[in-house]
Amino acid sequence: AAETGGDEKAVVRNYFNTKGFERWNRIYGETDDVNTVQLDIRTGHAQTVEKVLRFLGDRPLEGVTVCDAGCGTGSLSIPLALQGAHVYASDISSAMVEEAARRAGAALSSSSNGKPTQTPKFEACDLESITGKYDTVACLDVLIHYPQDKASAMVQHLASLAENRLLLSFAPYTLYYSVLKRIGELFPGPSKATRAYLHAEDDVEAALKEVGWVVRRREMTGTKFYFSRLLEAVPAAKAQ
Ligand code: SAM
Repeated sequence: AAETGGDEKAVVRNYFNTKGFERWNRIYGETDDVNTVQLDIRTGHAQTVEKVLRFLGDRPLEGVTVCDAGCGTGSLSIPLALQGAHVYASDISSAMVEEAARRAGAALSSSSNGKPTQTPKFEACDLESITGKYDTVACLDVLIHYPQDKASAMVQHLASLAENRLLLSFAPYTLYYSVLKRIGELFPGPSKATRAYLHAEDDVEAALKEVGWVVRRREMTGTKFYFSRLLEAVPAAKAQ
């Protein structure tokens, strides 16, 4: 029970404030002190962010409220803010949000695209504690920390925060990836400090359907070591 209970969340928080922060801050950065696996993950993750920006870019972002749930170092929050979105970004790790705020400060002060921008509001809090209403909610590559029985409720919580769109990315559960993950578990690397959960797309979609949301567009990003399914969901009533 400890694996799926509050203890596991404390482990995740602690990991992303210490070792995990160091590792992911490097992966989500620009410096070349990354190994080939980390570089591959950096490339794959950047592709996911690009796809989200393409989805969101089909209408102007100026003044649109966006919640970036589990924002990491701000890889999505910052480009959205640069396009004029009003971003609320949070993460369970205070180290992550501090770094995101630092990067946002630097990016926004040096930007010259002429758009009125607002610095994202960064906060250390877990997904469960996010409240409010946002035009758009994004949650990228965070569900890997949620077992499926908790993931469905989390997907529904995220949908309840969104008025118009939900962008969700997660490591997809297919036989092939589950075998890879098993191999990873048999030979864990030194930085594999947390458990990773893969999710079946059907389960995520069913959870959305239960609360009246439908998937409008989907994308898959796969490099050698990074796999992420991206879903854009909307309230069924607004699907046309
Ligand atoms: N969404 C960011 C991105 O795509 O750049 C970061 C993705 S990173 C793989 C996963 C992030 O989820 C970490 O920053 C971690 O601290 C955060 N996280 C994990 N569990 C969380 C939870 N229960 N609530 C909020 N954030 C969480």
